[in-house]
Amino acid sequence: MKKHRIAVIPGDGIGLEVIDAGKKVLETLVESYPSVGFEFKDFDWSSKRYLEKGQYIPDGGIEELKTFDAIYFGAVGSEEVPDHISLWDLRLKICQGFDQYANVRPARVLPGVTSRLQHADKIDWVIIRENSEGEYSGNGGRVHQGLPDEVGTEVSLFTRKGIERIHRFAFDMAMSRPRKKLTLVTKSNAQRHGMVLWDEIFFEVAKDYPEVEINRELVDAVTTTMVLKPERLDVIVATNLHADIISDLAAALSGSLGIAPTANLNPSGEFPSMFEPIHGSAFDITGKGIANPIGAFWTAVMMLEHLGEQTLAERLMAAVEEVIGSGLQAPDLGGKATTREITDAVCASIREKASVAA
Ligand code: NAD
Ligand code: MN
Repeated sequence: MKKHRIAVIPGDGIGLEVIDAGKKVLETLVESYPSVGFEFKDFDWSSKRYLEKGQYIPDGGIEELKTFDAIYFGAVGSEEVPDHISLWDLRLKICQGFDQYANVRPARVLPGVTSRLQHADKIDWVIIRENSEGEYSGNGGRVHQGLPDEVGTEVSLFTRKGIERIHRFAFDMAMSRPRKKLTLVTKSNAQRHGMVLWDEIFFEVAKDYPEVEINRELVDAVTTTMVLKPERLDVIVATNLHADIISDLAAALSGSLGIAPTANLNPSGEFPSMFEPIHGSAFDITGKGIANPIGAFWTAVMMLEHLGEQTLAERLMAAVEEVIGSGLQAPDLGGKATTREITDAVCASIREKASVAA
């Protein structure tokens, strides 16, 4: 039997609730289809750990993480720790440390989900977010702290290598999809250095992909296209910050932040890739048992695809779509179902489909 070793980092808040649910559906999947197995190892890397021990990731933690086939991550963020500390000390340490430079964020409206957008059925996008540099490269500083002349700078850093590899990844993604369309999103009218380099390298790389239909939009304008003409978009490539923002919009337009998944990929395979729902730790609903676990389930589907378990991925997605399509939905989608009820229903659907197939 093939065993995949998965490092599980639930993190904080509803991260713990949805990742626990995600593990349950993955375990049910392998019970029903026993040719594959998972070996999960839980890591308590969280704000709780930071407050108790002063570190999110213990010494040697990153070395240990390297030995896993994939990382299943919940969310990090606590009311007791400034967000820039939790983000940089845990999530970004893994993403950047393992050179997970391609962040993939699919968005489409699942069956049974009502979007606030009239033409939401036209949403079928994959947003490719550059995940290793740009606005989140950590450069900048503060001088004259606390004085009237205080200055803070936030310097975006873009490299030819970093830009070229994300564009190639995005073109490959476009080639794998029926419509083969790719939209370049920048702000190269106002930002005239790194953004212009993004544009230039995009058009250089485009020469290698004559079948891909390309266009470009400024980041402010693309938000209006997303809302008013969603059918114009297919694959979108954008910088770390821009794609962070437009992918939350994409999630909301396709129903809720609670259903959207993402993969942080190290495409060379040198280090493990990390899979997580795009939402955060959601202080407002933590502990209430009503977090929507669909984002964590769809994330697990992406992880299965990455592990080469295409059939299992399709089976899990089919169970998710069946349950959500039946109207059993969490409060963020206007329903009343709890995390537990949705999880149990997805597990039941997996078992039922497996027994029909057997
Ligand atoms: P959030 O995603 O935690 O919550 C935004 C809103 O969406 C809240 O009203 C929340 O209840 C709702 N929501 C999110 N996920 C949901 C789910 N699965 N089911 C139902 N409703 C859901 O974003 P925020 O409030 O801006 O941030 C809270 C904390 O999470 C902060 O500390 C922030 O830094 C952190 N954060 C972490 C990540 C991450 O770990 N990748 C991402 C975003 C935010
Ligand atoms: Mn975000």
